[in-house]
Amino acid sequence: MDALTYWLHANAEQLDSDAGLAEDVLPMLAGAQLLRIGVPAAQGGGGGDVRDAIAAIAAVAQHSLTAAFVFWGQRTFIEYLLQSPNGALAERRLPALLEGRLAGATGLSNAMKFLSGIEQLQICATPQAQGWRLDGALQWLTNLRKAGFTAAAAVAPSDGAPPAIIAFDSDCAGVVRGADLDLIALRGSNTASVKLSAVAIGAADLIAADATTWLPAVRPSFLGMQCGMSIGLARASLAQAAAISAGSRNQLTPRIEALRQTLEEHTATLMAGVHDGRFRSKAPAMFRLRIALADVVQQALTLELQAMGGRAYLQQEQNGFARRWREAAFIPVVTPSLTQLQAALQQLEGAA
Ligand SMILES: Cc1cc2nc3c(=O)[nH]c(=O)nc-3n(C[C@H](O)[C@H](O)[C@H](O)COP(=O)(O)OP(=O)(O)OC[C@H]3O[C@@H](n4cnc5c(N)ncnc54)[C@H](O)[C@@H]3O)c2cc1C
Repeated sequence: MDALTYWLHANAEQLDSDAGLAEDVLPMLAGAQLLRIGVPAAQGGGGGDVRDAIAAIAAVAQHSLTAAFVFWGQRTFIEYLLQSPNGALAERRLPALLEGRLAGATGLSNAMKFLSGIEQLQICATPQAQGWRLDGALQWLTNLRKAGFTAAAAVAPSDGAPPAIIAFDSDCAGVVRGADLDLIALRGSNTASVKLSAVAIGAADLIAADATTWLPAVRPSFLGMQCGMSIGLARASLAQAAAISAGSRNQLTPRIEALRQTLEEHTATLMAGVHDGRFRSKAPAMFRLRIALADVVQQALTLELQAMGGRAYLQQEQNGFARRWREAAFIPVVTPSLTQLQAALQQLEGAA
């Protein structure tokens, strides 16, 4: 077992239940060189592509969804820079992000909901002589390390220009991080709200000038890496269910095997789609995969519960089941949520 796997295994319960180890997650991921996975070598990465990042997030999620979600936030922020036309911003920020010295938070739930017509943008950008003045708030942001962070957000320019994606830093005047949210799980994820009051940013902080064209292009990577969390959690739960069921009288083994096969088929389809670019033009296929993988997670947890029976309720014997059950509750609600995707699919089908 490598050092990171050992650490995750030993601390998964605490990462879920309190914030005591929150500041250690990113350095641990960086120490195992995970943040460089899927990043071109020319930009300081370890090579490979986004499929490798999805696989790495899934591997972490097998042990701790809290750590996997922090990994997702950091790696997704890195992906924004890789796909940003602002090469200077990427050059300036990538070294510290890849080394885990700087935390990257992705506050784009609001933007994704805005694109689907569900929510207004929550940050207003007023043009100034040098750049913009930002005012507003983000209610939910993960990977807001107390040691400092940079965050990506969508902003609505007051002059009617298209919504833009910008990066702001925790040490900018006017940025205030709230206290950690009092969560029922994932408490070691450094999740809080952020308020922005008269924050000055310039063109150097622009990730994308037009969010409406840029976001659909990064969405396959955003969603693909998010699906990595479902894949890892489902694998962990199915592995537990299979181990308990082998040689037992519970008769669940064929159902566990069938679900495991379905999971691996969905995973293969996901990997192929993010690689060949089909999800850029065929968003519904990707939405359906995200929904299907979330369904596999729920079924896997149910099988694990049924395999354990009453032991799942015994603190000394539940072997991580209760944590996985709470972790699984996050999968349908993280943006884009299942209801949101189902509504988007219905709309698209109606239009067709
Ligand atoms: C632990 C945690 C960490 C998070 N970290 C981040 C982060 O790092 N970055 C970030 O940007 N966000 C983050 N979020 C926010 C998250 O992704 C959601 O945006 C957040 O939960 C609020 O949105 P909601 O859709 O749940 O709430 P609401 O908008 O109040 O919606 C409630 C429910 O109704 C559904 N709904 C609302 N409108 C529609 C509609 N028109 N059609 C269909 N369904 C609809 C929603 O999908 C949801 O299921 C985090 C959330 C949690 C719980």
